[in-house]
Amino acid sequence: MSLPEFKLLRPRGVEEAVRHLSEHAGNLRVLAGGTDLIPSMRQKLFEPEYVLDLRGIATMGGIRSQSDGSVEIGALTTLRTIERSDFLRQHYPVLAEAAATVASPVLRNMGTIGGNICLDTRCLWYNQSLTWRKGCGFCIKKDGDLCHVAPGGTKCWAVFSGDTPPALLCLDAEIEIASSSGIRRVSLHDFYTGLGDNYRRLQPDELVTRVFLPASFADYRGVYRKLRVRGSIDYPLAGVAVVMKRSNGHIAEARIGITAVNPAPLLVNGAGDLLKGQAMDEALAEAVGDLAAKTAKPLTTSALTPEYRREMIRVFTKRAVLAAAQSPGRN
Ligand SMILES: Cc1cc2nc3c(=O)[nH]c(=O)nc-3n(C[C@H](O)[C@H](O)[C@H](O)COP(=O)(O)OP(=O)(O)OC[C@H]3O[C@@H](n4cnc5c(N)ncnc54)[C@H](O)[C@@H]3O)c2cc1C
Ligand code: SF4
Repeated sequence: MSLPEFKLLRPRGVEEAVRHLSEHAGNLRVLAGGTDLIPSMRQKLFEPEYVLDLRGIATMGGIRSQSDGSVEIGALTTLRTIERSDFLRQHYPVLAEAAATVASPVLRNMGTIGGNICLDTRCLWYNQSLTWRKGCGFCIKKDGDLCHVAPGGTKCWAVFSGDTPPALLCLDAEIEIASSSGIRRVSLHDFYTGLGDNYRRLQPDELVTRVFLPASFADYRGVYRKLRVRGSIDYPLAGVAVVMKRSNGHIAEARIGITAVNPAPLLVNGAGDLLKGQAMDEALAEAVGDLAAKTAKPLTTSALTPEYRREMIRVFTKRAVLAAAQSPGRN
């Protein structure tokens, strides 16, 4: 499958990038590592006139710890850098662990944290060639008005399949968004809409520039578990991130995030309240697993059955909270 023709723009700074964005908004796609964008362009899911290659913007890379204990990660930082960062492995292990499970080493060398956050939602009826989609009938997410997954409905249920966002939600991460009208900082929690088509709150002239992890979540124990068909290179079909702080043998605080089973990565409501103040045991882990499974709404957007994927959210949540409670941690 060939790439459609486009004009390549290579800004050297954020200011120049946002200028291009405001000039060509709606007719431009941002390229970071390109590991998702380029295959999608080959499938003619996007045929922009301009591609804005961010890779020449040196200020958008790197991990910088701040004096207050928080950390700032440039949106162009590769997943490989995050996976291998001693600082993140020590202080924010859930993020390093989630990054290490993305795709394969080659793709993690190219793929960035910003691209992982902005990753397009996926569906078996959407991530296909133009010929395939034409043959089966276009759908709501692109060029059509019906949904093959939920026929009769008007909503797109394409699934969010990034691995790091559930970990980032657990860590209460914020992102910085730049445009020609300035800079805004939003909670990652508010970035996703829960819709399969318009899945993120990002205007066509906006760019994600940085990710912030607060000091308050530093040194939490962290575990990420993921279901995939091929262990060596595959999107999650269900993913669970857990962060936990312990005190005197009891759980002081915990958060659970899930991915690949809804149109957005989500925190499991009520999980923290259920775990707080408790000593971890099998029954408690099972109860939290049940709660996570109720939050998951998998449909036939992906390989493996929805029933199996929901069940694996339950099982992985149970395993992940048990592992987090037993993992060596500072608290
Ligand atoms: C075979 C294969 C397996 C994969 N497996 C996984 C997996 O297991 N888990 C997983 O999470 N992902 C997986 N991916 C997807 C992808 O490799 C990763 O999500 C990666 O992190 C994407 O980052 P990127 O920099 O390459 O993004 P790009 O492809 O450059 O961009 C992705 C999207 O985000 C937008 N974008 C990128 N950066 C910004 C920014 N700073 N501001 C605004 N918009 C931006 C782009 O316009 C595009 O829409 C897989 C891909 C392939 C091809
Ligand atoms: S969920 Fe429905 S509308 Fe969305 S991509 Fe899949 S088939 Fe298309």
